[in-house]
Amino acid sequence: MPDLHLTGIVKHYGSVVAVDHVDLHLPAGKFVCFLGPSGCGKTTLLRMIAGLEAPTKGRIKLGEEDITDRPTHRRGVGMVFQSLALFPHLTVGENIAYGMRIRNAPKADTERRVEELLQLVHLPGLGSRNVSQLSGGQRQRVAIARALALDPALFLLDEPLSALDAKLREAMQVELRLLQRRLGVTTILVTHDQREAMTTADLIAVMAHGRVQQIGSPLEIYRNPANTFVADFIGSTNMLPASIAERPGAVWVDGVVFPVAKLPAGVAPGREVTLSVRPEELHLLTGDMDQRGEAVLTGTVSFVRDVGQSVEVFVECGGRSVTVVGSPKEVPPVKAGDAVRVAFPAEACVVLAQ
Ligand code: ATP
Repeated sequence: MPDLHLTGIVKHYGSVVAVDHVDLHLPAGKFVCFLGPSGCGKTTLLRMIAGLEAPTKGRIKLGEEDITDRPTHRRGVGMVFQSLALFPHLTVGENIAYGMRIRNAPKADTERRVEELLQLVHLPGLGSRNVSQLSGGQRQRVAIARALALDPALFLLDEPLSALDAKLREAMQVELRLLQRRLGVTTILVTHDQREAMTTADLIAVMAHGRVQQIGSPLEIYRNPANTFVADFIGSTNMLPASIAERPGAVWVDGVVFPVAKLPAGVAPGREVTLSVRPEELHLLTGDMDQRGEAVLTGTVSFVRDVGQSVEVFVECGGRSVTVVGSPKEVPPVKAGDAVRVAFPAEACVVLAQ
């Protein structure tokens, strides 16, 4: 199976720049998510890969083959959209077999394949059922089976789960991931839901304003966001204005020197930056608890959210709210109004220059 290469992809709709110079290399067999807020260009990028839109500029290659000008039906893509677009007057089996029928595949092969796919998506024996008699989750599975019927080189999904309720949606995310692993088909899923992307993807391409802000594994993106947009969009984080200190490997935050594990390249002392620290990396200290050499900010607890499984403590530190999260065993018992210190481990302090 070949890799997919996008080079210098631009898409204009009149004066709107929907996709703005995207270069991406998507390795064969990976599950990739295009993740970003509404209007960032992810659907447009997927539609160009599918051949449903032509790029204004740039080239799309599958392995060594340039497919930029190739029509959709010759690209070997299987697609699932939010609307599913199942044929309501056909049975489950007829829906799945549709692509094979219009290619005049032998009847016996088609029937065998439909049975195989029904097993694959956990709907055995439902081939003769009308699609109008299925639940939302079952319809989803039929749409997936139909998209996979012709053994696509690329499996493309545009927000396919967004119409499902939260619980079914989470179950389908896991199912989709397991199915993709079993088949090894290169898959691209468009979503605005970061949890969905973290659950399913090998690689996440985070998009904003028509550009890819960062591509990496879910954990790389979570732990080492490339900029403040990515840090804020993926999970929750504390962002504090900071400046590079004269002392090596440190920044200033509110008059306190914070040692950090790493600084961005080419930043000089005095340069204004942003410090991003995940709430679960922070420690809350009370009374004379030892700060173990970590930088601390002092503050007052403003609110505690205890949901049993985790405790979230909001601390006002010099006019800024800092959030600390931990298990009930990790977080000392505090209440609104308590004076506390928040400790920032150096290795958890991510310095962002943009
Ligand atoms: P959503 O999650 O809301 O679907 P998206 O990230 O998929 O958003 P796109 O649908 O790719 O974003 O749209 C990117 C930009 O291009 C938006 O500003 C949108 O309004 C614009 N756009 C998309 N399709 C067209 C079109 N056919 N004609 C004009 N503008 C369009």
